[in-house]
Formats: sequence, C-alpha cells, structure tokens
Amino acid sequence: MTVPDFKTIRRDLHKIPELGFQEHKTQKYLMDYISTLPSHRYELKKWKTGLFVKVAGTEPTRTIGYRADIDGLPIREETGLDFQSDHVEKMHACGHDFHMSIALGVLTHFVQHPIEDDLLFIFQPAEEGPGGAQPMLDSDEMKRWMPDAVFALHIAPEYEVGTVAVKEGLLFANTSELFIKFKGKGGHAAYPHQTKDMIVAASYFVTQLQPIVSRNVDPLDSAVITIGKMESGTVQNIIAETATLEGTIRTLSPESMNSVKSRLEALIQGMKISYDCDIEVDYGSMYQQVYNDPEWTKDFISFVETTDNRNLVICKEAMTGEDFGYMLEKIPGFMFWLGVNSPYGLHHSKLNPEEEAIDFAISLMTEYFETLNVKTK
Ligand SMILES: [Zn+2]
Ligand SMILES: [Zn+2]
Repeated sequence: MTVPDFKTIRRDLHKIPELGFQEHKTQKYLMDYISTLPSHRYELKKWKTGLFVKVAGTEPTRTIGYRADIDGLPIREETGLDFQSDHVEKMHACGHDFHMSIALGVLTHFVQHPIEDDLLFIFQPAEEGPGGAQPMLDSDEMKRWMPDAVFALHIAPEYEVGTVAVKEGLLFANTSELFIKFKGKGGHAAYPHQTKDMIVAASYFVTQLQPIVSRNVDPLDSAVITIGKMESGTVQNIIAETATLEGTIRTLSPESMNSVKSRLEALIQGMKISYDCDIEVDYGSMYQQVYNDPEWTKDFISFVETTDNRNLVICKEAMTGEDFGYMLEKIPGFMFWLGVNSPYGLHHSKLNPEEEAIDFAISLMTEYFETLNVKTK
C-alpha cells in the first residue's frame, strides 16, 4: 500500500467542518479512509458522530490511547485558501482537521507496522461544545477498551513547526460558562421610583464581580471572570425589566472554581435584596482542567530531548479550556502543544497552520509509541 498524503486528507477535512455532534460527513470521511486499511488489523465502533478504532497489538498487555477531536467552529473562514471551508459560517479554526489527519497517520502506521501494545484511537466529537470527552468516557465502548494511558496534542500557532511545548501538571485551566438573568420591573423612563431597573442592577453587578479576582483569590493563585456579553432594554425612554449577562470563569484548580462560584452566588443574594429583583445563574458547560501526569510527561520530555530536529519548550499553563481534561482525570497521560506557526491564533477566521507540522507530528507520535513498546519488553 502506498503511503497516503495526509496533507491532502487534511485539506479534504478542512472543507467540511461541522459543529459538535453534527460531524456526520466527517465521521463518514474518517470511516471511508480507515476502510482502505487491512480490516483484520483493527476493530471500529461508531459512537454518536465519533469513532473508536482499536488497532491490534502483536502481544498486548496494555492499551495505549490517542485522542483527536473532530469538530469545527461557527466562524466564517477568511483565509482565502483554495481549499477553504465549503460549509457556510463554519470553519476548522482550532486545528481539529490537523488533529484528525495526524491521528489517521499514526493509525495507518500501526496498522501496517503493529507493536506489542493495543492502540485505541479516539475520534472525539464536540470538543468546542457541548463536550464529547465525558460522555465518551461513560460509553460502553470506552469502558470495554479502556486505555491504560492516553495522549493528545493541540496545534499551537505561536510556535514554529518542529516545536513541542509541554509541562508537567496543569496545562489548561478549569473553565465554566456563566449565564445570568435579571428580572425586575419595567416602566416609563420618567418614573424610575415605580420600577426595578435591571440595567442599573446588571451594570452594578458587573463591577461587583471584579473584586472577586483582586480581593478573594489568593494573589499567588489565578482566576479570570470575563463578562463577554450584556443585553438589556428596548428603547431610550423605557426602563428595562430584564437584563442578561454571559461570561466565563477560568481557574487554576477545581477548588478555586468552587470558591469563585460561591463568592459570585453570595453577591447575587446581596443583589437580590439591594435591587429587589430575581436573579438566576446557570453555569452552562464546564471543562475539567487538563492535568498532565508528571511521570508520563517526564518520559515524553526526555524522549523529545533525545531525538534530533525537535525543539522542546517547557511552557506555562494557559487559561484556555479543553475537554480532554476529563480523560486525563480518569486515565494517566498528557497533552502537548504542536507548533504550526500561524500569524493568526486559534478560533481566528484567518488561522492558517503550516502543513509540514502534520508529518512532523505523525513521526513524533509513531516513534514515541514505538519507544514505549521497547521499554516494556
Ligand atoms: Zn478550540
Ligand atoms: Zn481545539
């Protein structure tokens, strides 16, 4: 069998971005490609719009997991590339097209050149929301094929191709969405005393949130509370009856997430009394921190250091979120950043990662998995 061109596969996938749990064309594309490989070497199970593919080892005593997320984002692409998204208002702007192509490359290699260990490839839907990692973990397929270790990468536009950035312990933050609804009483702009003005209440509340980070969080810890959207009112001469706020909370530990939320809820109780209104809070979807297992990460770091043409960066943690954190909560392993050198960042309509990173990552991961196998002999 000739070695397929994974850049072409990436471009095919780039044209068909789909949102969380709608990845039907993507799933079919992946399955069509995998069906070209010798079928006695692997087992495939569909899970919603994702896939589990188990590649048989020669003398398996454990299962090594590798996860690639497969969803796109609701963004109108502005790269001007000739393989730009065919799907209006949708784009692979987080590099999940890269993640899938790299996983297919590693999978293809091990179907053709099996090692002792079984390998489980996890093509996970809905990373961008509402979250596919946790329900996948709870699935019968995952329970049956539960890996002993699990790995993943994420493209990093800020690093050159050839760079691997990683750290032990916390890599990505705990994240929670935040939706707050205020309900008061509207009325004539000239009779404020007969109303409960929710524009004033919501505005005051946004300023009240700010001291949570500066006054309640340990200065040596970190947190973010961002309100990204505020909506209220109809016209200039009507006092607003309702207001809504949308935002996000990010913390470096699950404990500080809980304490930020309990401060926020205490403030809400106070606001209800001060402004004589109803306030509802909904945290939407939450992502567990990505916490890299120190032993596995040390092992990977020394592997990268001892091989040629690979630039290792020990990076800092980031306040971004990733639902791979749920897998790492249950299974030891790690996630790392893969340099792809794009002037535009993740979730940007002009994100254009360099495709040389695909073959780089395929050989990095195949070599790493082969090294693991040698060590267990
Ligand atoms: Zn993303
Ligand atoms: Zn992503």
